[in-house]
Amino acid sequence: MPAGRNCHIDSSRMNWSPLPASISSLPKAELHLHLEGSIQPATVCALTAEHNILLTEDEVRRRYSYRDFTGFIDAFKWVTSFLREPRDYGLIARDLSEHLLTQGVVYAEVTLSIGVMLLRKQKPEVNFEAILRATEPFEKKGLRLNWVFDAARQFGAEAAMEVVNAAKHCQSKTIVAFGIGGDEMSVATEEFRQVYEQAANSGLHLLMHAGEVGGPEKIREAIEFLNVERIGHGIAAAQDPSLVDLLADRRIPLEICPESNIRTGALARQLHLPEARITDHPLPQLWRHGVPIVLSTDDPAMFHTTLEAEYKNAAQTGLNEAELARLVDMSFEHAFLPENEKLGLRMIRHS
Ligand SMILES: [Zn+2]
Repeated sequence: MPAGRNCHIDSSRMNWSPLPASISSLPKAELHLHLEGSIQPATVCALTAEHNILLTEDEVRRRYSYRDFTGFIDAFKWVTSFLREPRDYGLIARDLSEHLLTQGVVYAEVTLSIGVMLLRKQKPEVNFEAILRATEPFEKKGLRLNWVFDAARQFGAEAAMEVVNAAKHCQSKTIVAFGIGGDEMSVATEEFRQVYEQAANSGLHLLMHAGEVGGPEKIREAIEFLNVERIGHGIAAAQDPSLVDLLADRRIPLEICPESNIRTGALARQLHLPEARITDHPLPQLWRHGVPIVLSTDDPAMFHTTLEAEYKNAAQTGLNEAELARLVDMSFEHAFLPENEKLGLRMIRHS
């Protein structure tokens, strides 16, 4: 669809007040972040110029606004169509690393759309090698990155199994998890049982996007059929008190990305409203019921957000300073890292 019309942004709702210094100065971890959704407009222009396509940053910004979730998926397809060579992946991984340093991020689990690479007949191991080469120098600057290999739900179970196989072929201890994103309403959850068993047998942690545009049953299925350890988004949980209890009792975190939920229209859809505001977000309700929450940006460039802005969003939903500090803790607590390494990371301060 032509992007840029009917965008959900309401500038009057944006919170320009600064975060308390006690929160903004803390080293942070981010656990739900897509590399391909992090390509800033200037970088998209550099990327397309490599392929002899001239775009302006304004054109990219227009593409980066959506009327609904389908519009977002269309824009994601559009921007990933310019990722054609391993060096393209190196370029965007370097840019994301620089951006994360500006946000005080010392650790991130970054999702790679391996399913999309395979669909385009690319070799994930070669792209991944370029990504590692581009990002390893940032470790000296205090940024540690691990990776999530992600399949697209709508491509089906067989294609998802190929993503697990790609993770095995890459043989890198930095690949910590397997996940599924994409169109939640497409393939039934139970069709992925074997894929998740295989991923678990390969030593990968298990993730799934669920309850973003789908109902609470998608979250329950991901937990009961697939044993996932964290849920991507999961905002639909707020509609089902017994599911909220289950998430709290079993300490299964929701990876909450407020700006994303507004800009894709996912929150409005869950609430059956024509448009949703940040103050409509169920974050505080879930939080106060004891559901672990890890706050993230999802696709920061595509949603015009930053991790700092997401903490401001969380404040705007009603979390106080002590709760925001606890929110920072949670992203470390629920990271797929050994305990002793988490402690070391929290000592890092970027200059
Ligand atoms: Zn996501």
